Amino acid sequence: MQKFESIGRLAGGIAHDFNNILGAILGWAELGMDDPQAGKSAKDRFQKITDQAHRAAKLTAQILAFARRQVLQPRKLDLNASVDDVMSLLRKLIGDRVQIRVVPEPQLRVALADPAQIEQVLMNLSLNARDAMPEGGQLVIETRNMDITPEHARLHAEAIPGRYALLCVSDTGVGMSKDTLDRIFEPFFTTKEMGRGTGLGLATVYGIVKQHGGFISVYSEPGKGTAFRLYFPCCEGSADAPELSPSGVLCRGGETILLADDHEGLRQSAQEMLRELGYHVIPAASGREAVDLFRFNADAIKLLVLDVMMPELDGPHAYEQIAALRPDVRVVFTTGYTSEAVPFIAAIGRGALVLQKPYTLIALSQIVRSALDAPGATSPSSEPATPVAATPPSAIPVAVPVTIQVSANAKK
Ligand code: ADP
Ligand code: MG
Repeated sequence: MQKFESIGRLAGGIAHDFNNILGAILGWAELGMDDPQAGKSAKDRFQKITDQAHRAAKLTAQILAFARRQVLQPRKLDLNASVDDVMSLLRKLIGDRVQIRVVPEPQLRVALADPAQIEQVLMNLSLNARDAMPEGGQLVIETRNMDITPEHARLHAEAIPGRYALLCVSDTGVGMSKDTLDRIFEPFFTTKEMGRGTGLGLATVYGIVKQHGGFISVYSEPGKGTAFRLYFPCCEGSADAPELSPSGVLCRGGETILLADDHEGLRQSAQEMLRELGYHVIPAASGREAVDLFRFNADAIKLLVLDVMMPELDGPHAYEQIAALRPDVRVVFTTGYTSEAVPFIAAIGRGALVLQKPYTLIALSQIVRSALDAPGATSPSSEPATPVAATPPSAIPVAVPVTIQVSANAKK
């Protein structure tokens, strides 16, 4: 556990900086692409930079996942629907030699989980099952309800008493020796040849399940096969409707935004992105500066875009001080990874939106617009005394998922 913790801290720290740097790269590349003066070949090159930055962001996300520092976007989720969603992709990746059988529990409990993460988990486990059955075999994906009693929990080191929805993935493949089984969740542990395995698959699965407050049990026998059981804590009520995939429209506006980020490169690119969208931007290099600048411009500022992690005074605490001056102030937090700071959780509870770093121009434009257009916005009487924006606001409200924080389970 100590080893996991320190690897996690290291990975989380690196990924935090990487997300800021990637955010700046993405921001400038997108601005380059949108520049009317850029020719076709320059635009192509900016596109290539953007593509590569997205690949790097994906890798960073994976590292954050095993470090359990991902920003989760949990919803009330029907795991059967998640299984359905990945099936067509899975069939393509698994090939004909492996038969896939799905056994869904009809009355499955609703899990509080991030759909994208569940998809990742299903893919990682299924691809491992495929690799374990080079001569073919059977892959079974099953869902089930399960209660863990305190007595039961005492028998398994990882188990936590409670009500669960289970996701079980089993195969009839080569199985694992005891030595392999002991190490499978270690990051970069792989028995596969160079270029085939990264050793990140199960480390990621482990991090994701843990971050959801759940746990995993594995059963494996050499020559027979392997079964993974993933326990996700369940919740009351019915599943949320599937999320609409956000449309690719840029949303513009002319309001005044206070933007705080201690990472200079990212602050500059974000400032330029917001300006490009028509907003008037007041940049701040720290939480303290943000609070001071707010005092001077309290009437003009319609929205705060605050980095969560800043030295001295972080985003959530800066927000707390600003909200004391004007309780109805709108806020979007930007973050590369999770924060468990109390004011952050409180702000989320009061409807603050969270934008995950690194973000795209579209994502930034949409979340800023939804924060500004949310019901209960500041009254029109306090219109900004700021320069009129070059671009007229075209308020297209878009449903942007609110990122909420799932606090880590007490039993780590
Ligand atoms: P990778 O697949 O890149 O090797 P993973 O973290 O996904 O990394 O898996 C780590 C190791 O665990 C694998 O290299 C393999 O030895 C073992 N393993 C994982 N899943 C299975 C399985 N279903 N059957 C047999 N061995 C497995
Ligand atoms: Mg794998």
